[in-house]
Amino acid sequence: MSARPPRLVVGVEVHVQLATRTKAFCACPVEFGAEPNALCCPVCLGHPGALPTLNRGALAAAVRAGLALGCAVAPRGAVRWDRKNYFYPDLPKGYQITQYDHPLCENGALALSDGTRVRIRRAHLEEDTGKSSHAGDGETLVDFNRCGVPLLEIVTEPDLGSAAAVEEYLRLLRDRMILAGASSCSMEKGEMRCEPNVSLVRGDGSSTGISELKNLNSFAAVRAAVAFEAKRLEEGPWHPAGAAPPRTTYGWDDAGGRTILQRTKETAADYRYFPEPDLPDLPAEALAGFVAEGRAALAAADADRSAAAGRARAEAVRLGLAADQADLLLVRDLTGGRFAAALAAAEGAGAPAAEAGPALAGWFLGPLAGWVNGRGGDWAALRASAGDLAAALGLQRTGKATAQVVKEHLLAGEWPGTGGDPAAFLAGRGLLGGAGEEAVRAACAEVVAANPDVVAKIRAGKTAARGALVGQVMKRMRGTADPGAVNRILDGLL
Ligand code: ADP
Ligand code: MG
Ligand code: ZN
Repeated sequence: MSARPPRLVVGVEVHVQLATRTKAFCACPVEFGAEPNALCCPVCLGHPGALPTLNRGALAAAVRAGLALGCAVAPRGAVRWDRKNYFYPDLPKGYQITQYDHPLCENGALALSDGTRVRIRRAHLEEDTGKSSHAGDGETLVDFNRCGVPLLEIVTEPDLGSAAAVEEYLRLLRDRMILAGASSCSMEKGEMRCEPNVSLVRGDGSSTGISELKNLNSFAAVRAAVAFEAKRLEEGPWHPAGAAPPRTTYGWDDAGGRTILQRTKETAADYRYFPEPDLPDLPAEALAGFVAEGRAALAAADADRSAAAGRARAEAVRLGLAADQADLLLVRDLTGGRFAAALAAAEGAGAPAAEAGPALAGWFLGPLAGWVNGRGGDWAALRASAGDLAAALGLQRTGKATAQVVKEHLLAGEWPGTGGDPAAFLAGRGLLGGAGEEAVRAACAEVVAANPDVVAKIRAGKTAARGALVGQVMKRMRGTADPGAVNRILDGLL
């Protein structure tokens, strides 16, 4: 009898940077990429006697975030601030202001597409620490600009059962934060840092220790780290049912594709939490206004999004787009409005929607997306204007340029980076004005003469070989030949 494989159990802690202009407890600006240590003051550096004042914008954003996750706000009647004490070079105060047993938000949930309900235990406000970087010569540099930047720590119950479920939860979470206007969640800028806690449990209740994977900054890293750790834990050691499994902290080595042991996990007692004496409790009544405003803002954002989705669906039907094309171009608006603008220009120039829509969708998701991805993925690199693209579609519709020439020589070449009149661009390269019958006939004759073996095959009934001849003619004509004409002429010659 073969034992059933152990079950993967994952709970996630995420730190999201709240979108504020200033820090959580002082007026220092929040900016990414500023000169190191330029954005600090006695409060965020913890100089003696400096007193923190709560940033109302951070509180409002945290409340909106909590509501967007279905949490109750201040369910214990009051929200309290605590100091979490530890020594680390990037923590000049020697403690972090956070919320321990009276957090701002509790008891939320997000539902995954398969119906899994991921319970959110709590979401609390806290301040970020500074950032250490290790210089090549063995020295460590510290930048305190991030000290005091407001974070929301969002903690789930261990309700996730696969790396894919973890990723879906994180994507959903990011989407809710953006909808709530709570955070822009740019993972490259460290605005969303993920810490999955991973363990394996057997049918008899025995389990491995819990590995806490720290500070993962991309979905790819989360996927890889959870999958790696799940596999590694299979070796055990296993702890009997009921025993509190040990917790261990790991880092992720992206290049090496493996987790790295950091330390056995501190317990709450190690941090000597105690109430922050310099910040008053926030009674639930004092938060009622934030909750009401937060609910209204979320309802408005939801309504905006539904209206946008409704408009996108209607537009997709009008254009005859496939669902995935409509999703990318109209709902998620991958191109930043460029598809819609090009479509409007093409329709203005007389192209019917049902023709221009699918053609431009194919261009934007095909050659143009490829062109943009080859240049860092920023659509701003595309210099061909809506009018230029409409003109290119016009050349194709009127037969002045073949679809192949447009795709290969215009959209996949230098033209997207310069724009300008597509007719002039193609004419300058001898690619305008579909090739005349004479030229096509000559090219077909040459190809037939040069490939007696292929011709023999076709005459013997292997008609599939014909494609090779058509391809050669098109190549010889640099795509300017009309494929219909090529086929007709070849038929005659064969
Ligand atoms: P701590 O108090 O040390 O932070 P918690 O029990 O509060 O530990 O859990 C912290 C995180 O670990 C939560 O996200 C939780 O879902 C997750 N977690 C708890 N138990 C397990 C487990 N057996 N396997 C994986 N993750 C777990
Ligand atoms: Mg924790
Ligand atoms: Zn400051």
